[in-house]
Amino acid sequence: MNRIYYAPDGIICHDPGPGMIPFFSALDENYRVESIRPGNGFIPRFQLLRQKRIATGKGLFESNEKELLDKIASTPAIGIEDANEIFAFDALYALSLREISNCRLCGHECGVDRYNGTGKCGITNETHNSSPFIHIAEEQVINPAIVTNFSGCSMRCLYCIDHRVWEPSVFLKTIPKAFWDDTRSHITTDIPIDSIEFTNTTESIHGVIGILSSAPEDFNLPVVMNTHLYGTKAFYDIAIPVTDVWLPDIRYGNDDCARKLSGVENYMHYSKLGLDAMREHNGRVIVRLLVLPGHVNCCMIPALELLSKYKESFWVSILDQYVPEHEAHLVPGLNRRPTREEISVVRDAVNVYGLRDISVDNLEFWNF
Ligand code: SF4
Repeated sequence: MNRIYYAPDGIICHDPGPGMIPFFSALDENYRVESIRPGNGFIPRFQLLRQKRIATGKGLFESNEKELLDKIASTPAIGIEDANEIFAFDALYALSLREISNCRLCGHECGVDRYNGTGKCGITNETHNSSPFIHIAEEQVINPAIVTNFSGCSMRCLYCIDHRVWEPSVFLKTIPKAFWDDTRSHITTDIPIDSIEFTNTTESIHGVIGILSSAPEDFNLPVVMNTHLYGTKAFYDIAIPVTDVWLPDIRYGNDDCARKLSGVENYMHYSKLGLDAMREHNGRVIVRLLVLPGHVNCCMIPALELLSKYKESFWVSILDQYVPEHEAHLVPGLNRRPTREEISVVRDAVNVYGLRDISVDNLEFWNF
């Protein structure tokens, strides 16, 4: 966090925290931390789930996954005096822990038992996360956010600005109590926090659920799920019941570029699967597009065309802060910032496809 890059066309700040406010104010006297909050009385989905009981009809581990997911989604929040009555949230947590014994959370679909090894992401059953920190430059409707990053990733983007977090042990093992102690200290600062954001969640969704299982009962900020679009139905089934705002990245518009630059197969299949799952969820969705230099025609425009099929449900967020990091210098064309023209072609395409840009069309975000 708080990394600053000096590029020929300006200064780029990565994950700025409150300590950067004096710096931004010195650059622009009109600078303000922008924020559009949900109305009073907002209750995050996971808190509703924690109040809800379901009757399994038999032991939890004898129920099949579909039976439990259907009950989590549909059973009204009523108490049922039954020996097999359980909290819906606990059932979901159990499902997430069971999923990693034959892991197919991401498009690699390794099918490995993460209690006894790792798949392509390199993560065992244990998750690791950064200390939560305050981010003051997210999209206005979720800003400022308390952010925590999970380590390990199933995508290996050659230009990844956060490639150091691929190594699981770069962060400490997830300890929910420590997470909430840190979060509480951030919430009581002068910065009014808008959301809590979990990033890099696909491979570590059971870690997210574990953290939420220990949340204070009066915690009422929206949960933002920041994820690459290489998840599977197994991931979305577990993540949907606890997600208030989806924040996916779409990086490519074809499988070849995804294979060459991120080492993944069938990227477009999984991207569409993820977008469909989010639309079906009927939650709030902001799709981010990082403008990759040299990939406007092959990736950005086709990605926007794809998103136009979801334009009634989604917002888009155009990110122009790409800087060549990691191994970008080895890839012809990627070792530079996107040009102003490339960025403006992408912004124009947002209008051409009739998409809602969250930076300018955001007043209705919390009103549906
Ligand atoms: S998260 Fe993806 S890469 Fe990791 S073990 Fe599961 S299927 Fe494999």
